[in-house]
Amino acid sequence: MPRTPMFSEPLHVGRPNVGDRQRLLERINGALDRLWLSNNGPLVAELEERVTTLTGARHCVALSNATTGIQLAARACGIRQGQEVVVPAFTWIASPHALEWAGLVPVFCDVDEETATADPQSVEELIGPRTGGILGVHVYGRPCRVTELAKVADRHGLPLLFDAAHAFGSTYQQQPLGGFGSAEIFSFHATKYINSFEGGALVTNDDEVAAKVRAMRNLGLSPDRDIVSAGTNGRMSEISAAMGLVSMDIMDDLIEVNMRNELWYREGLAGLPGVTVRSQAPKERANHQYLVLEIDAAASGVHRDTVHETLYAHNVFSRRYFYPGCHQSEPYVHAPAVHAPVPLPHTEALSTRVLALPTGSAVGEAEIAGVCDLIRTTLAG
Ligand SMILES: *Cc1c(COP(=O)(O)O)cnc(C)c1O
Repeated sequence: MPRTPMFSEPLHVGRPNVGDRQRLLERINGALDRLWLSNNGPLVAELEERVTTLTGARHCVALSNATTGIQLAARACGIRQGQEVVVPAFTWIASPHALEWAGLVPVFCDVDEETATADPQSVEELIGPRTGGILGVHVYGRPCRVTELAKVADRHGLPLLFDAAHAFGSTYQQQPLGGFGSAEIFSFHATKYINSFEGGALVTNDDEVAAKVRAMRNLGLSPDRDIVSAGTNGRMSEISAAMGLVSMDIMDDLIEVNMRNELWYREGLAGLPGVTVRSQAPKERANHQYLVLEIDAAASGVHRDTVHETLYAHNVFSRRYFYPGCHQSEPYVHAPAVHAPVPLPHTEALSTRVLALPTGSAVGEAEIAGVCDLIRTTLAG
């Protein structure tokens, strides 16, 4: 620990963005007055409508979180227990864990280093008689190579799902994410761009998938309360929907804040050898909720982990997001023949270079200048 850390108050990655408190409290008061706190209340209905408008997709089913959403999506698409689902190893552990917990078998594909998303060729290599589906992940809100993945899925007659936990508000070929594949799943967890404390949403253009998920999130009950399937409790509460709606009110402002922060980071780190700020896809809208550096030890002379530790000592809680690759995490690391049958060189290379830094409304120009100074001094050795 240095004698005086640069920051006396810690800076975190993923500090919640909070919208207008007064409007939030008004919405919560409304729910209290109605005595309607959960079970598809008016705030949940309003959030679903807002999401269909924003994404242009036919259906939105609000959920308790994205992890449950991935499980419901897989089941609604007919992926059966014991079947394999191809998923990139470079993602948050929630993506494979959601599958594993539902009795499915995650099989890890590699990513391309430019988009950090599933490499369609690597996906196709892994498809075999046990494959039940594909789960792409729009990592850091940058869209997958959707068209190519859809071709692979179509060629093999497989459902294609997208973990869109990072990607609310992002576009692919100028179309909002949400309507691609069989379904896309957003997360509204507290650390995400739009938050509802805890929450998520499944978005789809498929009427049947939507109807199934809507029933399954409510213990398999139809709108007429007939029991039509097995189900679970994946409901979103009214207080979560209130937070989500208020959060969506400021979504454009948040993107502006994130983009301005990114500019300050780019200026502050310009010219440092071996250090790059990861970019979003050209010509696409993105939420810029993550600010991710890549530190190439060979070119910079300093390993990413050294920068990470130095920042920590100064109260800047950067995150190695994602390290290690999911294939090197519990429990998958113990069964490489099942979960990681092909080499994953790009996942492994990326996961030693990436470092997520604080952004969002909790940091400003002064904090970012300080973080950049710390990185400069660390590299100067
Ligand atoms: C946050 C996250 C999830 C899980 O979302 P929850 O709403 O917390 O369940 C899934 N996948 C990725 C890539 C995430 O970052």
